[in-house]
Amino acid sequence: MAGGGKEPATSAGERRPSADGDGNKPATGDDGRKPLIDVDERKPSYLALRSSGELASRVEKARRLMEECVLCGHACRARRLEGERGVCRAGETVRVSSYGPHFGEERPLVGRRGSGTIFFTSCNLRCVFCQNWDISHDPEGGQEVGTEKLAAIMLSLQARGCHNVNLVTPTHYLPQILAALDAAAAQGLEIPLVYNCGGYEALQALKLLDGVVDIYLPDVKYADPEVGLRLSGARDYPKVVKRALREMHRQVGVLKTDREGVAYRGLLVRHLVLPGGLAGTAELCRFIAEELSPETHINIMDQYRPCHRAHDYPPLDRPVRRAEVEEAKEAARLAGLRNLHR
Ligand code: SF4
Repeated sequence: MAGGGKEPATSAGERRPSADGDGNKPATGDDGRKPLIDVDERKPSYLALRSSGELASRVEKARRLMEECVLCGHACRARRLEGERGVCRAGETVRVSSYGPHFGEERPLVGRRGSGTIFFTSCNLRCVFCQNWDISHDPEGGQEVGTEKLAAIMLSLQARGCHNVNLVTPTHYLPQILAALDAAAAQGLEIPLVYNCGGYEALQALKLLDGVVDIYLPDVKYADPEVGLRLSGARDYPKVVKRALREMHRQVGVLKTDREGVAYRGLLVRHLVLPGGLAGTAELCRFIAEELSPETHINIMDQYRPCHRAHDYPPLDRPVRRAEVEEAKEAARLAGLRNLHR
């Protein structure tokens, strides 16, 4: 069991375990007087929303977006509640391919006890080079889980000591996830919620996450719309992702961490460097620095290797070169970004 296996809290009113293990005691400076972190700020925002009843109302609003589905950037209007399937091919019921503490995410998410990942099937993007295509693309993969089961999974991750619940490709299951979050919070869930997505998000769906999501973790994939369409089947990807990033930044701001470096709120952008400059790194970094903040945290990822159907899409048929990664990191620095991860 990761991180010493804390027992789950059984009611929202119980003592809240903090990420740095000091309970509700405010973190203080060396002189013992000045608070370094506002403890209330570290509380997941969904707790207040649940208390006011707003979280339940968001479930209904999100469900309406699924009637003729416009939950993601595809806006393909599939009648999901009547059994129709859209581009993502997701049905009405959530399917989870796996869940558990994960130690391969960025350090502020992993901390000492891991990030509590839940991997959903039927990703709304169909990237030809996807490294997880076997678990993320198959609409019949994984296991069907209802609201109570999904809530129980969230609580089990907290019980195992995870620092957060990390929803991986959650967009197409937003209403069901919100319902499960409401149920889990009623049973004592109180760790931050991470929204780990491909960036192809619908603005109206993101608005429903205002005050719900604590940490946004979007991939930002391409600066060129033609590349986004060819490699991920996503029309206007750059326009959609930029609009989504503005909204995410507006909601949660720059990433904040506690004194042990564990994130509790904010935006952390991921960008995978692709061979042949296909990702358009320099342009995306300029946008992030100029229109969000030069303090935005970004992970310029260097692990690209050909997977899935990448061999049919040169230059994706080769690993990314070290020089290409260095050039991408330099582009981020030149754009003025100051918080590069790894
Ligand atoms: S979530 Fe799925 S069904 Fe809904 S708009 Fe996106 S691709 Fe279409």
